[in-house]
Amino acid sequence: MAANMNPQTQTGLTTFRHFINGEYQGDSNGHFDKYRPSDGVLIGRVCEGGREEIDAAVRAARAALKGEWGRMPSERRAQLLHAVADEINRRFDEFVEAEMNDTGQPRSMMEHAFIPRGAANFKIFADLVKNVPAEAFRMDTPDGAGAMNYALRVPKGVVGVICPWNAPLLLMTWKLGPALACGNAVVVKPSEESPGTATLLGEVMNAVGIPPGVFNVVHGRGADSAGQFLTEHDDVDAITFTGETRTGTAIMRAAAGGMRDVSFELGGKNAGVVFADCDFDKTIDSFVRSVFLNCGQVCLGTERVYVERPLFDRFVEALKQRAEALKCGGPNEPGVTLGPLINAAQKQKVLSYYRKAVEDGATVVTGGGEPDLPDTISGGHWVQPTLWTGLAEDSAVVTDEIFGPCCHIAPFDSEDEVIEKANNTRYGLATTIWSQDISRANRVAAAIEVGITWVNCWFLRDLRTPFGGSKQSGIGREGGVHSLEFYSELRNICVKL
Ligand code: NAD
Repeated sequence: MAANMNPQTQTGLTTFRHFINGEYQGDSNGHFDKYRPSDGVLIGRVCEGGREEIDAAVRAARAALKGEWGRMPSERRAQLLHAVADEINRRFDEFVEAEMNDTGQPRSMMEHAFIPRGAANFKIFADLVKNVPAEAFRMDTPDGAGAMNYALRVPKGVVGVICPWNAPLLLMTWKLGPALACGNAVVVKPSEESPGTATLLGEVMNAVGIPPGVFNVVHGRGADSAGQFLTEHDDVDAITFTGETRTGTAIMRAAAGGMRDVSFELGGKNAGVVFADCDFDKTIDSFVRSVFLNCGQVCLGTERVYVERPLFDRFVEALKQRAEALKCGGPNEPGVTLGPLINAAQKQKVLSYYRKAVEDGATVVTGGGEPDLPDTISGGHWVQPTLWTGLAEDSAVVTDEIFGPCCHIAPFDSEDEVIEKANNTRYGLATTIWSQDISRANRVAAAIEVGITWVNCWFLRDLRTPFGGSKQSGIGREGGVHSLEFYSELRNICVKL
């Protein structure tokens, strides 16, 4: 079996191997099992990376920077990244399959959003990097000869990329696209729950001729495993991380040791604000998506909804009907609109909030438990789509990120009141505001302390604009030139003429 392909075992189960220096390798540290979330079926075993694998991957990345990759003209780099995107698209079905196996989410979502966007990220940043400006000044000097002072944009170096499981390819390439376009070499630590597309990507890199060591993958877990070892490695220059706020805190501590730069995209407890003058049908359609998409496992999703009192009862009833019409099912079942949670632990966590809501006196509008399921998927991690009303604002159900298909809906009476409630959180990732009064919508948007606000829409963004969280939802901004600012560094060079 060629080491530049990730081998399958004879049983059809995949062994998800590390991809280091252009080769699949290594199970010195053992494995853990990976199960499909929709039916609980074992799909493979994941190699557990340790310090040795991280060290090998970082060394390979450093060597790549000193070799062909480091000397490669940026135009050639851009061509290769275009080729990566084309190769992902050529092997589209394999990527869809891998991601469905990892996350259990409906095929339609993979085909129409997650995989195409995951591929496109390489092209977007390859094109963008060509036009990023840097400064150059002609200076006067006392001898009259002058000097040229300019800024040279160089890669940061070796970048550690630590990814979550909720949109694995898309969120990984959102970091890889700009990191590679800027000329860095990367070591990726995919989530232990989603090894599939990162593993496949190694084959893609080899097929198009990305030099060995530019893109490395080390599988494993977080604390006391590959994730932590990557953040602690002395020869890593920067860490880019998407995941929970608590994990971000641990990574920041580790990165501080080597004064490594960090970019963090973290958790949220996002508010939706609905004024009585909204376009009602569009509003409901949007909340069905922002609350239930990806089974609620979307960092930008809405878990708190505030509805102006005259519209409150109608809104709750309409969202209830739509929640009850969602269809659970495996990724390949036609018409499925709700997938599973990622694993048993996440299911237990969500169900614990379902119980807590009742203890705290919520009215359960719909859901609140586990659905009845056909035998074919009963081994998966399913919960009912759930809506509550009547909770106090300090209930943990209203303050904590649950990351499930659920939200709490509360009425409000004034603009000031809803701004205060929306801001009453340690998070600051996103909000969605619904009103036909555009002046008011703009006023409220400016007052809500989040990184991104949608007015009369959700999950819509020109990828050139800045993306990131306020408060405990993140550090830094990525997107467009903002990504390039993180993945490159400016050197000041002054030449006496
Ligand atoms: P997580 O923090 O549990 O894990 C993310 C990654 O970090 C995994 O690869 C994990 O192995 C690794 N990790 C865990 N502990 C580590 C440690 N001590 N050192 C180094 N690495 C470590 O997050 P998750 O459960 O995979 O993802 C869900 C979370 O991600 C939610 O909070 C969600 O809001 C957030 N998220 C945020 C964004 C955003 O753009 N802001 C996007 C997607 C997901």
